[in-house]
Amino acid sequence: MNISNQARQLIKEQQKEWVLAGKNYAGLKSVKVRTLAFDGFDMLVQFNPERIRSSAAKVDAKSIEARPCFLCQKNLPKEQRGIPVLHKYLILVNPFPIFPEHLTIPHLQHIDQRIENKFEDMLEMARQLEDFTVFYNGPKCGASAPDHFHFQAGIKRFMPIERDYKRGSFFSEVKTKNGLDIIRWSDYLRTILTISGKDKNLISAQFDLLFQELKKLQPEEQEPMLNILASWEAGRWIIHIFPRQLHRPWQYFEEGKKQILLSPASVDMGGVLITPREEDFNKISMKDAQDIFEQVCLDENKFDEIISKIMK
Ligand SMILES: [Zn+2]
Repeated sequence: MNISNQARQLIKEQQKEWVLAGKNYAGLKSVKVRTLAFDGFDMLVQFNPERIRSSAAKVDAKSIEARPCFLCQKNLPKEQRGIPVLHKYLILVNPFPIFPEHLTIPHLQHIDQRIENKFEDMLEMARQLEDFTVFYNGPKCGASAPDHFHFQAGIKRFMPIERDYKRGSFFSEVKTKNGLDIIRWSDYLRTILTISGKDKNLISAQFDLLFQELKKLQPEEQEPMLNILASWEAGRWIIHIFPRQLHRPWQYFEEGKKQILLSPASVDMGGVLITPREEDFNKISMKDAQDIFEQVCLDENKFDEIISKIMK
């Protein structure tokens, strides 16, 4: 059995042998979902109370230091089983799912969340987990364990961006170079660059070009802020990169009626907004979503400058 099928099998088995996983995957079947119908594309809002752990996770250095790391093998629940992959990661079932099949893939070592030098692992992971989209949340872009390197993966055909990519309606610039497609999206609420192609080294080199440019914009950050979605489809990789400029929007820090507890990460970027509180699920409007993405995504003008450099 290939890794992708092994992982899907593991998800099924863990629901039977691990009460927490069984309960939370069963709960997902009755989860409330709303659709925000924008001009030409949809966003989904998912009311998922179990995700409060992640959305409200304290990721400052002091809080991180004070807790046992939940991704270190020695701290995993006794019911949790994993599948080793690439000799340095462990595929685990995420017991607090957003996707009907949702994996967490920590590195075997307790090392910081940094994508530099790990991007090729991500490509390889996406190829092996062909039924899934693999995603990366930067240390200040949604990762709830910024001190322990990890990817996540969710089953395909769940995030609206997949369908929107196939339609291509929001592509504003497409450049083909050495068999790679480099695509800039517009009018899609989020700042996105997509790289698609068959050659791992070329994709990696193109990603690095972008990464280095983003680094110049945010020299004070440990790494440029970003989210990444990676999948493998009919022999080609499809990589969506979302450069960011803010961790959490102002609505997150408000109190009372103005507060919306939404901490954007890869899945939100892919078009599924996760609201752990029912009041936020009920009230979040298209205008709110637009405002939140405007705050957290990299400024369009800055992005244009980078695009003109890397599309040369
Ligand atoms: Zn750890």
